[in-house]
Amino acid sequence: MQIDMKKCFYCKRKLPLILFNTNNCTYQVKADLGKTVSCRICSIKRAIKQNGYMTKVDNKFVFVQANKWEIIKKYLICNN
Ligand SMILES: [Zn+2]
Repeated sequence: MQIDMKKCFYCKRKLPLILFNTNNCTYQVKADLGKTVSCRICSIKRAIKQNGYMTKVDNKFVFVQANKWEIIKKYLICNN
């Protein structure tokens, strides 16, 4: 069985698609295979540094403040 791989834009590692969140944006590059440019690990690291993350509410991007556990839960457990 072949596993689809994708290179993370931030850490430059080639990782299985499961390590990327699904990209819900309307505008996206076909080469991104429907996934975000950043792997889950990089997303978590960045969110922890910023004490929160960007999310879409009513088609607008808003910054949501979150603690470490909320961030990990968002990026690891939820597949969005
Ligand atoms: Zn990465």
